[in-house]
Amino acid sequence: MNAIVVKVGGALGVDADAVCADVATLSGAGLPVVLVHGTSAAADALAARVGLPVRHLQSPSGHVSRYTDSETLEIYVAAAAGQVNKSLVAALQKLGCDAFGLSGVDGRLLLARRKDAVRALEGGRQRVIRDDFTGQLESANGSVLEMLLGGGYTPVVAPLALGREGECLNVDGDRVAALIAASLHASALILLSNVPGLLASYPDEGSLVRHVPMAHLHTVETLAQGRMKKKVLAARQALDAGVSTVIIGDARRQAPIQAALAGLGTVFGDADVMQFECWALPEREWAEVAAR
Ligand code: ADP
Repeated sequence: MNAIVVKVGGALGVDADAVCADVATLSGAGLPVVLVHGTSAAADALAARVGLPVRHLQSPSGHVSRYTDSETLEIYVAAAAGQVNKSLVAALQKLGCDAFGLSGVDGRLLLARRKDAVRALEGGRQRVIRDDFTGQLESANGSVLEMLLGGGYTPVVAPLALGREGECLNVDGDRVAALIAASLHASALILLSNVPGLLASYPDEGSLVRHVPMAHLHTVETLAQGRMKKKVLAARQALDAGVSTVIIGDARRQAPIQAALAGLGTVFGDADVMQFECWALPEREWAEVAAR
């Protein structure tokens, strides 16, 4: 399918209105778009409002993840499938785009295996955590999305998956987007965040890595640190599954998806990004956007 999959993070500075305006423009122009969203900032804010402390787990390899015990899961579901998902759907509907919100639990869109024994470092010592409701993604049922896209809807996906015992699981939004892009044979996966792309020396925005050919993917995997690492891993997962282009782009600007499709950001893969030229803003309109 000629669809693109766009993931928008919840980090500070991300302009969700600009993302929605761009989704509406592109889907209105005939490019099928699936929008996947993050949840972390909204889940943290909701947890703070109900007085639930937010805890993170650090794996022995240094990877940090949200600790999702059963109480936190309730908050996470409310923030992901409720607050964030419905506000994006409503914003798109306001723009005339017929958005349809769902989570990975609906129609068995996303299946995951619960990580039932998570090793974590606490106070310098390793502990095994057994009440964590995070999941390792296993499969995506692209036919649910094809049905929605075929019906003229723009799917908006919350990062929850269905576990083997019918439980809701917290799953990583970047991995969700990669798996969905693979299952739809999407022409591009765009990961939007609050940075211009992958930075060679973070946080120096002048050190943007513009292009990562397949042959250099391994090099940047070692370069990326912290939360950028999971985006690079998601990029690899999508590329390995046959998605020809993955772009990490900036969601703090106007028309962020068209900018990414024009090659602004970090472009992964060997495909010619100019294939998307027809979906990028013409030069004259960029001048108008820049002047706003
Ligand atoms: P989102 O919620 O938008 O998915 P994340 O917070 O998960 O975003 O990941 C993006 C963050 O990764 C950036 O805000 C930045 O703080 C961090 N980061 C770490 N290393 C890098 C790097 N090399 N280049 C760009 N960003 C980086």
